[in-house]
Amino acid sequence: MFIGHYGLGLASKRIAPSVSLGALFLACQFADLLWPTLVLAGVESFKIRPGITAVTPLDFEHYPYSHSLLALIVWGILLGLIYRTVARSSWRAALVLFALVVSHWVLDVVVHRPDMPLAPGLSSRLGLGLWNSVPGTLAVEFLLYVIGAVAYLKSTVARDRVGSIGLWMLLLFLSIVELANVLGPPPPSVLAVTWSAQAMWLLVAWGYWVDRHRDPIARR
Ligand SMILES: [Zn+2]
Repeated sequence: MFIGHYGLGLASKRIAPSVSLGALFLACQFADLLWPTLVLAGVESFKIRPGITAVTPLDFEHYPYSHSLLALIVWGILLGLIYRTVARSSWRAALVLFALVVSHWVLDVVVHRPDMPLAPGLSSRLGLGLWNSVPGTLAVEFLLYVIGAVAYLKSTVARDRVGSIGLWMLLLFLSIVELANVLGPPPPSVLAVTWSAQAMWLLVAWGYWVDRHRDPIARR
């Protein structure tokens, strides 16, 4: 799953207005941001097998530290506590970040083949396999994304052009990447996938940048 995760990140601005969109992106995509580094380090691994699902050709052989339920609970607790300490935030903000980190696992279980681990060392794997359907995947991902984008737009107001145009460019860019991922040709190599995954850190930076140019709207 790609933009469905960002949908949840965007939507969370409504319940945690003090938290920057960049931090919300970091939390909802924490698993996928950690993953390429672990692959490059040789700790986790995947292969490209075109046709393995209708949507993605990636065969996730081993990724218990970035994508198991237990690991994401631990990462979520750590991220929440670090954020609370560094940003002197409320417990509510820390809890939202924790929930977003764990939400990645739940949403990935919906789309992945049964390859999502519960904990490092356990052999059982979960996955409902929505990736076997291109229209089904696009419908669920874009639904989550549009709900999230609308919630973010309604919870914040642009202070200037970076806040308005910058946000719309970000929203458009994510949609294009999603369509390219789902409808485009399979990636050329493991290394190409890994480095384009590293580029997702730029989306965290983009989220911080845009969010700094928008103000939360006080809810009635
Ligand atoms: Zn993932």
